[in-house]
Amino acid sequence: MTGLLGIENLTRVEIEAILDRARDFQPPEGEGFRRLDLLKGRTLVNLFFEASTRTRTSFELAAKRLGADAISIAAQSSSVSKGESLVDTLNTLAAMRPDAIIMRHSASGAPHFLQRHLAIPIINAGDGTHEHPTQALLDARTILDRGAKLEGLKVVIIGDIAHSRVARSNIYLLAKFGAQIVLCGPASLLPKELQELAPGITLTTNMTEAIQDAGVIMMLRVQLERQHEANFPAAEYFQFYGLRLDHLKHARPDVIVMHPGPINRGREISSEVADSQRSAILNQVENGISVRMAVLEKVLTQ
Ligand code: ASP
Repeated sequence: MTGLLGIENLTRVEIEAILDRARDFQPPEGEGFRRLDLLKGRTLVNLFFEASTRTRTSFELAAKRLGADAISIAAQSSSVSKGESLVDTLNTLAAMRPDAIIMRHSASGAPHFLQRHLAIPIINAGDGTHEHPTQALLDARTILDRGAKLEGLKVVIIGDIAHSRVARSNIYLLAKFGAQIVLCGPASLLPKELQELAPGITLTTNMTEAIQDAGVIMMLRVQLERQHEANFPAAEYFQFYGLRLDHLKHARPDVIVMHPGPINRGREISSEVADSQRSAILNQVENGISVRMAVLEKVLTQ
């Protein structure tokens, strides 16, 4: 049994199948989600060792909308805070026989390690700075919904790329579809090794140059929780890497502005942009549910 650990090892065909299935689960315009019973009788455990609003809630809603039972455990309220090891916690939960475990952890590779030890499928909801596969899938669904094609699309990812699992999963996915990927941020948050993640990636510290003719601008939060020393002058960050309305004139007129959330208004994105017609931020949140429904169905019925 394998769950979903990352985008890196998925094929383009597998990704397309998830994205197509997610479209089937999207509610018709103006209507709510229907409650289905495709996963009736199944039980899912959401185990989050790191903070989450969107991902945890949408996995839970996705499970419920497919008729499954879902329980969420936050590490702060579990025996992890009493010193239990990750393996013991997971073994304990596994003994209760859930059908899958959805987990988020601050250590890169934690779900991969556990998947080797457990017979229950594990779905990665974000591991350290490594991957956040369902985020990249919902981002792709959102781009496609706005009528863009991934092939040849110029996608600029701006901000703290070094510490971003969202960036890594998106890079793997976009590269498989032939998008043109540009990474932009302060030099200290833009290590050269990122170029090795996929062929043809461009790195730049110049935001105006990066945005030129972009079809998608993905903004990232500065991951202060992963930085052990200040890697950039915080006070000047918005001046150099904050997305403002005047930047958008350099991009394509139909540019799609994205952000995985949580957004920090006035730090990496201005309110005018976040709330503008070009922003797809709330569409991303909404698509999180249908994409996670597709992922849960795939993992539990394969
Ligand atoms: N929510 C995303 C993540 O968990 C992005 C972020 O936290 O900035 O990686």
